[in-house]
Amino acid sequence: MKIDNAVGNVQLMQKINRLKVFDCIRQKEPVARPEIAKITGLSPSSITNIVTHLLEKNLVVEVGTVDSKEVGRKATLIKFNPSAMKVISIDIESSNINLALTDLGGEIIKIKEISINRLARDFEIMNLIKREIGFILNESNNVAGIGIAVSGLVQDGEKLVISSSMRWKGLSLKQFFENSFNIPVFVQNNSRTKALWELRNYNNEDERNIIFLDLTLGIGIINFFDHKINEAVIGEFGHTTIKKDGPLCFCGNRGCLEIMCSVDAVVNQCNELLQKGKCKTLEGILNEKNTSISFELILQAYEKGDSEVSEVLKECGEYLGIGLANIINMFNPQRIIINGDLLLTSDFIYKTALEEANKRAYELFLKNLRYEKVNIKIEEALKGVSLFVADKLFDLSGPDF
Ligand SMILES: [Zn+2]
Repeated sequence: MKIDNAVGNVQLMQKINRLKVFDCIRQKEPVARPEIAKITGLSPSSITNIVTHLLEKNLVVEVGTVDSKEVGRKATLIKFNPSAMKVISIDIESSNINLALTDLGGEIIKIKEISINRLARDFEIMNLIKREIGFILNESNNVAGIGIAVSGLVQDGEKLVISSSMRWKGLSLKQFFENSFNIPVFVQNNSRTKALWELRNYNNEDERNIIFLDLTLGIGIINFFDHKINEAVIGEFGHTTIKKDGPLCFCGNRGCLEIMCSVDAVVNQCNELLQKGKCKTLEGILNEKNTSISFELILQAYEKGDSEVSEVLKECGEYLGIGLANIINMFNPQRIIINGDLLLTSDFIYKTALEEANKRAYELFLKNLRYEKVNIKIEEALKGVSLFVADKLFDLSGPDF
C-alpha cells in the first residue's frame, strides 16, 4: 500500500513538473531551456529531461537559437507545436450545430454546419452529432479530445443541468460521447468558451477587471480578473429577476433578464400588438412582403417610424440597461465587452441600454468604465471550444501525456 502511494506520488510530481514546463513554453514561446529553468524553478537537468520527453511527443519543437544570459552562450529556443494533436469542437445552438476539426491552437482544418429541427428530441440531436463525429474520426487520426459548447448550465461533472434554448434538462453529453468514442469529452457553457477566445485575443495589461456579457441565445456573464477567467463567477445571470410579474421562463421563474430582453421577447411582444390591431407600419411591411414576422422586419418597421414597435425596442433596451447597471454595481468593472449577434444589430436597443445603465449605476463606478460591442463569429466560437479542450487536456486532472 505504502509502495503504491510512493509510486503514485512520484508519478504525480512528474506530471506536475511536466505541466509546469509545458505551460511555460505555451505562454512564453519561443523560450530557451535556461529561461524555462529560471521561470519554473526546476533544475536544468529536470528541464532537459522534460523537454526531451515533449520533443519526443512532438508537443514542442526547436526553432533557432538565442544568446542566453543564464548560461552565457547560445541556447536553443523551444516552441509549442499546436499541430501535434487535433480536436473536434462542437457548438450547439438552438437550430444549428457547428462542428470543426482544429489543431490544439484552434486553427480550423475543417468546418461543417448542420441544421436541426428546434423541436427534435434530445436523443435525436445527440445521435445526429454522434454520426457527424464518426465521419470526422474516419477521416482524421490523432484526435485527442472532443469539446462541446452549449448554452446552459453545466455542472456536476460536466453534466448539462439545464438549457433553456435547447429545452434540455439533466443531460449527460460527456458520458454519452465518451462511451461512444473512447476519447476524452469536455462540456462547457458556450458563453465561457467564447469568453476564452476573447480573453486570449485581448491584451490590455492595465485592465484587471473585465466583464464579458454574452447576449446571444441566453445571457451569460464571465468575469476576467487579472487576465484569467474568474472561476468563482459561475451563476446564471440571465435568470436574475428583472420584472416581478414578467413572462414565465423555462427555468420556472418569471420575468428573468433572459426572457425580458431577447429577440424572442421582442418578436412575441410585437406579435401580440399586431393581434390587437396595433403596429400598423409593421403590419404594412408584412402584408407587402407576404411573410411572417421576424426581428429584421421589426427593425425595418422601427426605421420607418412605427412608434409602437419603437416602444417595444425601447423597453428591451431599458431592461438590458437595468441588467448592465446591476453588473456594474456588483463587479465595478473597468470594461464591459458585450457580445451580441441579432439583438444588437439594433443600435437603438444598444444605445438605450447604455443610457439606462448610466442612469442607474453607481456614479463613481462609471468614471473609468468602458463599453465595447463585439460580434464573435461561429469560427471564433469554435476556436474558443478548441482552446478550452487544449487547456483541459493539459490540466492536472487531464489524461497523462
Ligand atoms: Zn429564467
